[in-house]
Amino acid sequence: MIGDITDGIRRGLRGVGEVFAEPTLRLGVTGLSRAGKTVFITSLVANLLERGRMPGLRAAATGAIQAAYLQPQPDDTVPRFDYETHLAAMTGPDPHWPDSTRAVSELRLSLRLRPSGLLGGMRGPRVLHLDIVDYPGEWLLDLGLLDLDFASWSRGALERARAREEAAGFNAALAGLDPAAPWDERAAQTVAAAFAAYLARAREAGFSDCTPGRFLLPGDLAGSPVLTFAPLPPGPYGRRTIGAEFARRFEAYKREVVRPFFRDHFARIDRQVVLMDVLGAIHAGPRAVEDMRGAMAGILGAFRPGRNAFLSEILRGKRVERILFAATKADHIHHGQHDRLTAIVEAMMAEARARADYAGAETRAMSLAALRATTEDRVAHGDATLDMVRGTLLEDGRRAAFHPGDLPEDPRVLLAPAQAGGDRWLDGDYAVMRFAPQPARIGQGDGPPHIRLDRAAEFLIGDRLL
Ligand code: GDP
Repeated sequence: MIGDITDGIRRGLRGVGEVFAEPTLRLGVTGLSRAGKTVFITSLVANLLERGRMPGLRAAATGAIQAAYLQPQPDDTVPRFDYETHLAAMTGPDPHWPDSTRAVSELRLSLRLRPSGLLGGMRGPRVLHLDIVDYPGEWLLDLGLLDLDFASWSRGALERARAREEAAGFNAALAGLDPAAPWDERAAQTVAAAFAAYLARAREAGFSDCTPGRFLLPGDLAGSPVLTFAPLPPGPYGRRTIGAEFARRFEAYKREVVRPFFRDHFARIDRQVVLMDVLGAIHAGPRAVEDMRGAMAGILGAFRPGRNAFLSEILRGKRVERILFAATKADHIHHGQHDRLTAIVEAMMAEARARADYAGAETRAMSLAALRATTEDRVAHGDATLDMVRGTLLEDGRRAAFHPGDLPEDPRVLLAPAQAGGDRWLDGDYAVMRFAPQPARIGQGDGPPHIRLDRAAEFLIGDRLL
């Protein structure tokens, strides 16, 4: 009770303090690995610093943003997002994609804003600090683990492993292990390594649900006991056995890894963008799309206030106000297909909402490309004309044009695998397309070197800039 009161006062004071001090807005950027977080943040910051190519962000278009500059971030122990290196990679003389997100990092972009409101003229310019927090979506999905004990987690994890061919090695290692045998470090490491290798392969194959997240992106925990365990068939195992130790480590993982992440990073976020490589999942096949839907429900669940006791405790009434679900790399397809891509995200979102029993933040779906690597073309093909995208191939630097195939008009064709039939349904050239970044080559007539990044920014932060 006393704690509640003092906390309330503290929060109240923070609110009052913000009237006098400079307000901050924390923008979380997440998504599974390779979804496009690093490219998104780098491009967003570069475009906010320049502002010339953000017509869809009202504050940029109207000149309300008077200046934008990078500043030291407020969190001394969180690594800084390496903006300069990433930007140099993408825009240097030999453009290449930057290194991807491996752990949490942060960057503060400060915006000097034209005064607003009735008293605006008297107050002078305002400053808003935008603290951008980059973190792996894999870690977010770990929230679901908090509701599970070792036995129930093992049941689900083993079920998934049985259904995935990527788990063959792990399943074999497991078959050779007796969980009731006395603790044996070598045997434990072997099966844990097989489990981690399976998760990495499953992720590579396009599956989204590959928890525990740190097995894929361990940060500085690689090799530690808290990451050396695996799901096991039901016990009882007896004391000092492999089974008992794995169960203990699973609890330690939740306590020492998952909870601190949610408390220190997640609980402080005001706005969130969840990036999704929807085209990649579609390319990987129906099971990957199905899995992405499941992962989305898990992610939305994390943003639903009151979802679980631990979250309610750390959030203390604070909530994420807006969440954008964005399909990335939209420059892989012709703009004529973008509405269909967005419709797929929307349909996934609607379903994830139903599954996660969601009643929370304002949400929006969008298709974007943080950095356009292609230009568009129409090419005569027999009697028809084909919509093409043209770019420089990563593999060999060749310039090439592709027709990536059409997305279905009705997203249910993709989202109801039974109807979809087959294991690949986006044909055309999509499989071979991996383009190098080439911002400098996007010509004048092609618009800005991104697709809808400005609209994404408008939804995420626009209201706080005017
Ligand atoms: P992260 O793991 O979420 O940080 O993902 P990255 O930002 O590193 O992006 C992963 C890869 O996706 C990049 O190396 C690019 O190949 C590709 N990618 C990301 N954003 C874009 C984009 O806007 N357009 C294109 N064509 N490719 C992109």
